[in-house]
Amino acid sequence: MSKLKQRKDRPTIGQVMDEAGVGRRQFMKYCAGMTALMAMPPMATTAFARQLRAARRPTVIYVPYQECTGCLESLTRSFAPSLESLIFDTISLDYNHTLQAAAGTAAMEAKYQAIQENYGEYILIVDGAISTAENGIHGMAVGQTFLDQLKDVAEGAAAIVAVGVCAAYGGVAAAHPNPTGAVGVADLIKDKPIINVPGCPPIPEVMTGTLVSFLASGVPELDRHLRPKAFFGNTIHDRCYRRRFYDRGLFAKTFDDEGARNGWCLYELGCRGPTTYNACATIKWNGGAGWPIESGHGCIGCSEPGFWDQGGFYEPVTAKLFSERGQSVAAAAAGVAVGAAAGLAAKARKKKLASETE
Ligand code: SF4
Ligand code: SF4
Repeated sequence: MSKLKQRKDRPTIGQVMDEAGVGRRQFMKYCAGMTALMAMPPMATTAFARQLRAARRPTVIYVPYQECTGCLESLTRSFAPSLESLIFDTISLDYNHTLQAAAGTAAMEAKYQAIQENYGEYILIVDGAISTAENGIHGMAVGQTFLDQLKDVAEGAAAIVAVGVCAAYGGVAAAHPNPTGAVGVADLIKDKPIINVPGCPPIPEVMTGTLVSFLASGVPELDRHLRPKAFFGNTIHDRCYRRRFYDRGLFAKTFDDEGARNGWCLYELGCRGPTTYNACATIKWNGGAGWPIESGHGCIGCSEPGFWDQGGFYEPVTAKLFSERGQSVAAAAAGVAVGAAAGLAAKARKKKLASETE
């Protein structure tokens, strides 16, 4: 597990928490919530809290490339006042040209100063895809391509966190026919630890949780797409509250039929939950107020490589997609077949009951 080099001249997070008046009980409650989200056993909370308190405040450089600012909007919309935001305040965000006052050349100078002063020790957060077509000329700022900017800033980073599906895998910017040759960070940088936190946008708590867990114990366990397993270890379908309808073969056929009104499964309306790994079904959105499937729309697979080109959003998941995700096509097909058979049996029972009561 690669750990961040600790700068002795920086206060520890524990010291910053004490100065901010965060009590032990509040801090422990936060750590218990974090370890639960990451599916760690309850006894791990004390060790996690100790490691987090001892971690020194790191420098973070946040660079935006081909992006829509949705990921930064999501990150800054975490529910305030929250301990996540306090912890995020304890990170020294030395460069973020969307949030900082400086612009143009002054902003670039601030970035180079932050790089020089913290060379080899900063966390680099990348937001947005990187254009590679025609030497990257489709994405530029201050006379330099994003491609060259990324190579410069990545060289001195201790680790890179790619936030959003665009920074992780190219995302929306890489959608067919991808005229700018957009790619994700891991396609270009091969010699640094990279953690992908995909989503369009990612869940704020997953972004802050990944950073906090990295501060406490280094690069977390990642899946084959470099996502933290703690947050991306299950499919949406694994944890979806509509799963009981899927298992019984009860599917909405349109967005306003009886099935939709009864909250049945959205598989036949194109839900990508069975092939999408993310924590929406458990952490939810807007401080836990709800999430897309609860609002009546299927998952569109925004945290997966290949998003946006996964076939139409309103066609059921294909066998090809199941197999691209490394999932068993036979098991998935069997699940649908069992569900469909159960659905037919349920329909037959309903018809029989109706004829008996006429
Ligand atoms: S297909 Fe979608 S709506 Fe149906 S159970 Fe799976 S995740 Fe939920
Ligand atoms: S439900 Fe699916 S599409 Fe919606 S935010 Fe979660 S992973 Fe992305």
